[in-house]
Amino acid sequence: MRLAVLDGRATLLTADGPVDVERASDGRFPSDAALLYETWDELRDWASAFVPAAEGELPDRARLGAPSPRPRQVFAIGLNYVDHAAESGFAVPEHPVVFTKFASSLAAPFGELPLSGGTVDWEVELVAVIGRGGRDIPAAEAWDRIAGLTVGQDYSDREVQMAASPAQFSLGKSFAGFAPTGPALVTLDELGDPDAIRLECTVDGEVVQSGVVGDMIFSLPVLVERLSAVCELLPGDLIFTGTPPGVGMGRTPVRYLRPGERVTTRIAGIGEIEQVCVPR
Ligand code: ZN
Repeated sequence: MRLAVLDGRATLLTADGPVDVERASDGRFPSDAALLYETWDELRDWASAFVPAAEGELPDRARLGAPSPRPRQVFAIGLNYVDHAAESGFAVPEHPVVFTKFASSLAAPFGELPLSGGTVDWEVELVAVIGRGGRDIPAAEAWDRIAGLTVGQDYSDREVQMAASPAQFSLGKSFAGFAPTGPALVTLDELGDPDAIRLECTVDGEVVQSGVVGDMIFSLPVLVERLSAVCELLPGDLIFTGTPPGVGMGRTPVRYLRPGERVTTRIAGIGEIEQVCVPR
């Protein structure tokens, strides 16, 4: 299944074009995607009658919204790839490094990125959306609790992030527009082996990050187990799973985003999102 939010309404992207979930189900399911995650397993069974669209077959980009519009919790994981921890000057963590991107930073998959300053950096990330949720979920059951996967950018203002000690990850990563996701939520059955999924970020067409999900230090099932041991995971919650190497902060010389630059964030099998940088 490929689920998008089109003109604010939950929409299946199918081989025959967009299908409005509320209308096609005669009102059995709501048009508000935020509510769909509450009854995810029923939705998935109903949607199995439709053939999903191919990757990249999208309606007008400007009409798309975030696939999970109002998550109650947004978890994000720092330093979850060995080479990224090294380029950031941190040790490889023994426990997941968890922070949040405050909900007011969430954004649609395509649009403008207002630059908060001169040190805004890019981070391509695989984002999981929680379906059934719960507490104390064993890693072996985690995939049953994940509704699907989407593309995310963990934009980061490095000056604000590093201004205090210990670092203020949550604050530096929560300016307006710093958490775009999309273009659709894709269920695991469309993707095959999750460890083989490739991620990439380009700036004005230049590949700056390239990685594979299997290189994560803490896999998504392990993250679900660790997070749910503390917090109840709720339908629609997001988990940003960390970024592979190649961020601007880790380059010599360092490189940050400038007005006019175009950031394209791709995950094979899911699709791409894109922002054009503008002055704040
Ligand atoms: Zn990140």
